[in-house]
Amino acid sequence: MFNQYLSGIATVFMLHSIYPLDGDKLLPNENLKVSPDYLESFIVKAKAKGYSFISLDTLHDALLNNKTLSKAIVLTLDDGYADNYTHGYSIFKKHNVPFAIYITTSFPDNTAILWWYTLEDIIIQNNSITLSDGSSFECKTQQQKVDTFWAIREKIIHLPTENFIDSIQALFTHNSVDWRSKVTELALTWAQIEEISHDPLATIGAHTINHFASSELSKEELINEVIGSKNIIESHINKPVEHFCYPFGSAKEVGEKEFAIVNELGFKTSTTTRIGSIFPEHKNHLAALPRVMLTNGFSLSRFELTAIKRLLKGRVVVA
Ligand SMILES: [Zn+2]
Repeated sequence: MFNQYLSGIATVFMLHSIYPLDGDKLLPNENLKVSPDYLESFIVKAKAKGYSFISLDTLHDALLNNKTLSKAIVLTLDDGYADNYTHGYSIFKKHNVPFAIYITTSFPDNTAILWWYTLEDIIIQNNSITLSDGSSFECKTQQQKVDTFWAIREKIIHLPTENFIDSIQALFTHNSVDWRSKVTELALTWAQIEEISHDPLATIGAHTINHFASSELSKEELINEVIGSKNIIESHINKPVEHFCYPFGSAKEVGEKEFAIVNELGFKTSTTTRIGSIFPEHKNHLAALPRVMLTNGFSLSRFELTAIKRLLKGRVVVA
């Protein structure tokens, strides 16, 4: 009861990549990773502490029908990285843990521009970067490299989405960059997604076609991105896609306007990157469910201890 009041009925965790950490890389991307060893120890420890792992469907059913849940965890993986299959899938199967992968369809279609990895390479390889908009960045030290990453990331997120490849290339005229090189290396293939989709442990969700920040899109463009990705995935896996996740789901990139639009599109749940646990009141906010990021070093004990702090900030995080 105590736990239910503080930590809600469940927590949806957000993961991206499942791959051994690399000390030579930059933190903003490394933080999107969980190492396979860490993931396995997290699952084992959580089970030992009495947590159960459930699917998005089970969470949705519990919210909708006022069923009691306590100490439930949902694992969700964003974007569709190949390592979810090569490094994560065997762990989920070994421990019988349900999981959801939200697919950005331009990943398996190999048209995605994984600029955050290309940008990381450019910053690691250079001691200073000058962009065609006149801005320039010192990036000699590790801290300068991280600061540069965040500063340029902010510019890229707000580039025009039409002909995005031209916009990003125009920003980097001083560097010769192949923006399309990362996707074949890092994205799941449709064959892998189809194989995973047959597993009862797996939920395949939608994460738009191009992973643009929703706030940069018109209503029509957003609907095309969301429904387009749902239709493309369904044509590959021959099953309904009933769960959605907003790209860059922080308050800066997605808000009431986007929630209202997506709420009409018929998904059972949609998740953001707002930080919070799930409470029974989220029944009325199924298009804006908060999550908690799982990174290496995340401690469930500390998470339980800080529940009171999160609660004071607001029991039901949606906006
Ligand atoms: Zn994403």
